[in-house]
Amino acid sequence: MATDPARTAAHPAVYRNFIDGAFVDPAGGAWLDSTDPYRNEVWARIPRGSAADVDRAVAAARRAMTTGPWAGMSPSARGKVMRRIGDLVAANAERLAAIEVRDNGKLMTEMLGQLRYHPEWWYYFGGLADKIEGGVVPIDKPDHFAFTTHEPVGVVGALTAWNSPLIFIAWKCAPALAAGCAVVVKPSEFTSASTLEFAALTREAGLPDGVFNVVTGLGAEAGAALVDHPDVAKITFTGSDATGKRIYQQAAKSMKRVSLELGGKSPNIIFEDADLDAAVAGAVSGIFAATGQTCIAGSRLLVQNSIRAEVTERLVEMARGARIGDPMLPETNIGPVTTPPQYRKILDYIEIAKAEGARLIAGGGPSDAGPNFVQPTIFTDVRNDMRIAQEEVFGPVLAIIGFDDEAEAVRIGNDVIYGLAAGVWTQNIGRAHRMARALRAGTVWVNTYRAVSYMMPFGGMKHSGLGRESGIGAVHEYLETKSVWINTSDAAPGNPFVLR
Ligand code: NAD
Repeated sequence: MATDPARTAAHPAVYRNFIDGAFVDPAGGAWLDSTDPYRNEVWARIPRGSAADVDRAVAAARRAMTTGPWAGMSPSARGKVMRRIGDLVAANAERLAAIEVRDNGKLMTEMLGQLRYHPEWWYYFGGLADKIEGGVVPIDKPDHFAFTTHEPVGVVGALTAWNSPLIFIAWKCAPALAAGCAVVVKPSEFTSASTLEFAALTREAGLPDGVFNVVTGLGAEAGAALVDHPDVAKITFTGSDATGKRIYQQAAKSMKRVSLELGGKSPNIIFEDADLDAAVAGAVSGIFAATGQTCIAGSRLLVQNSIRAEVTERLVEMARGARIGDPMLPETNIGPVTTPPQYRKILDYIEIAKAEGARLIAGGGPSDAGPNFVQPTIFTDVRNDMRIAQEEVFGPVLAIIGFDDEAEAVRIGNDVIYGLAAGVWTQNIGRAHRMARALRAGTVWVNTYRAVSYMMPFGGMKHSGLGRESGIGAVHEYLETKSVWINTSDAAPGNPFVLR
């Protein structure tokens, strides 16, 4: 297993990097603490990886893709190993979910749901591995046979955020492995344990050494080394837009391919013709589920003015009734905030909103449930140009904005730099389609919210990112297309100075 039998009372679990199929100490001998945000205590230590560790991991990944068994394995055989990974995650879902809760404090009900669903990515992309076909092009030039093939892009560097560590591994690594790539993962320094536990399962599944590697550590150290590494061909990143933009610039220096899954300020829009029970529940799920620590949070609630008072009243009642506490208990609705910087950021934004003139109608500060808890908070009378409406808080803080008609809802909904997701609540089918078309967001949910699937492309428009994860197309994020031309003629060559 990934854990060290020599654990101490202060560090009940000790993890090591996973490189070339083995758990190894960090080259620099340095470690970081991993803290349980609910108990507010250190529960594990993880390697503080450095450029030397990244170098070792990238070399192993490169070997796996060139001379190792992975390179020679048929796509069907690759798919079988991937399906075994899915089976092992399914068998270990409860254990892995509990580790994620320990690290990020999100609800066990949420993390267990994610872990039980996680195997589907391995089944789906495992099944896709041997269906990546090129095509014969009915080329317009005489005496030529032309076809395309798809080749793995190369070694992939995957950088992940702390809110759903293993779901991000599935979203990134399942399509990457289906494409024939090998990966080096640098998980969030706040939540690395589950990724290292998952690494042990890849070995148990029979994934050849070097195909899946994990180097933990800080973004500015191990993360930056991965982005800079000359033998990494592609970076796939989930995290904040500030880090994403830095990585995009840095990756350009070595012309790496880049996929970015970044932040959002998603509008959740309730029309007066909506089923209000469903809409209010959708608004709560949009902002208070996962303590608001989700990229798809419906953090701007746009409510038609004719029903604004009623919706607001019902939301306040639900926010006040939410059970805050131990994330392991099934009856808990809201757990702690994952990291101390995030906790401070949320409280800062609450003060910013008050100073901007937004009207606080629920919550508004720390909760007495424990050291890292914030009350579910609602502001109304928010203007869309306020910072609370424009900037991602990543916490349980809702901004309610009124609108009069559909055109105004579209204008306000789109008036942010982000474009990750949007929700629409209406019983008018024509309006549902018009809104789905008009909103500039990678995902639009109508009469539902926070639905995701391995089959459905997910990603952002505008500053919310680049590329798509999940769905058949995701595998092409990890492939290069090669066009092959074969001259079938024996005739003498024509004029060499003109384009054929
Ligand atoms: P973050 O940007 O701080 O960190 C993400 C990862 O990047 C971590 O592994 C971190 O160590 C690494 N990193 C940080 N600086 C780096 C650098 N200079 N070079 C290389 N790597 C570096 O994000 P976070 O706080 O972990 O996550 C929260 C953010 O993630 C939110 O903005 C949220 O919206 C976003 N997010 C997006 C999605 C999505 O799919 N669109 C999903 C979840 C979270």
